[in-house]
Amino acid sequence: MSKAKGQIAINPARCKGCGLCIWVCPQKSIKTVDEADRRGIRIACCAENAPCTGCGFCYMVCPDTAIAVYKESTTEEPAD
Ligand code: SF4
Ligand code: SF4
Repeated sequence: MSKAKGQIAINPARCKGCGLCIWVCPQKSIKTVDEADRRGIRIACCAENAPCTGCGFCYMVCPDTAIAVYKESTTEEPAD
């Protein structure tokens, strides 16, 4: 059986902190940083222990193409 696991990378220079990715993530894997940057923006970042599945919703919704999604597939042997 194949099980997908994901990871995202957010480009801080592109992110404008709109929050759409946070809203759309079904795993609640994205949050905003605690401190605003020099533009006064609290950008998005990965939540700790984020159970990202690599679904790509955040990538699709981001209006600034600030998110890259990496998906890892592992093949599990069926249990005896
Ligand atoms: S949707 Fe894009 S621009 Fe908006 S907070 Fe997320 S990464 Fe930043
Ligand atoms: S790829 Fe899916 S699960 Fe992972 S952070 Fe984006 S919306 Fe959330």
